[in-house]
Amino acid sequence: MNTILQENLLGVRQRIARQCAASGRDPGSVQLLAVSKTFPLSAILEAYQAGQTRFGENYIQEGVDKILACRARPECRDMEWHCIGPIQSNKTRLVATHFDWVHSVDRLKIAQRLSEQRPQDMPPLNVCIQVNIDGGANKAGVAPADALDLARQVTALPRLHLRGLMTIPEPAPDYATALATHQAAKTLWDRMRDAGIAMDTLSLGMSADLEAAVAAGSTMVRVGSALFGSR
Ligand SMILES: *Cc1c(COP(=O)(O)O)cnc(C)c1O
Repeated sequence: MNTILQENLLGVRQRIARQCAASGRDPGSVQLLAVSKTFPLSAILEAYQAGQTRFGENYIQEGVDKILACRARPECRDMEWHCIGPIQSNKTRLVATHFDWVHSVDRLKIAQRLSEQRPQDMPPLNVCIQVNIDGGANKAGVAPADALDLARQVTALPRLHLRGLMTIPEPAPDYATALATHQAAKTLWDRMRDAGIAMDTLSLGMSADLEAAVAAGSTMVRVGSALFGSR
């Protein structure tokens, strides 16, 4: 008998695989980031037992507590931890010291602090630039027009490894709207790569819109509620 979480993991992996098939994409080209924010360590360990290794956290201190608890377990050493939430300046050291990835870099000052504070005995911190792709007011993310400049600056920082772009669009009323928004992110990503920025990651799509994201070219979907339940 599978648990609910095991069933949910299978279901999400099937959704990704089905959309990859429909879009003519290799199913191995889309990674699943399990967004475990607000869920307990026990849920993370259960997902890990079921083969899930990448986890995303929004709240820095909560994430660090979970990372430390997991790193204390020898069997959990190959977990990969992604910070996907807003980062205040006074939290950069925690992020730089504990996480493997950050998806939510949207200004140079935060990037500089992360680079300065990344411990020398750790590999460079993997970074995605968060882009405010649909221009929502008061929303985090660099304006699309400024993404290339920020990417050039991040690329020059010695302890960061620029991996790609991340977006959090407004909830879309329908598939076509979600697809158009994700395609805008893919177009920006393509243009930046054409301009010489090396990137391999497009962090697009969540529980509600992962099909549209995969159709548009997402390489990493960030899925919370469809795995762990509603928050
Ligand atoms: C919470 C969150 C997710 C996951 O959202 P679900 O709708 O629960 O899948 C993905 N990305 C970010 C940045 C989030 O904050």
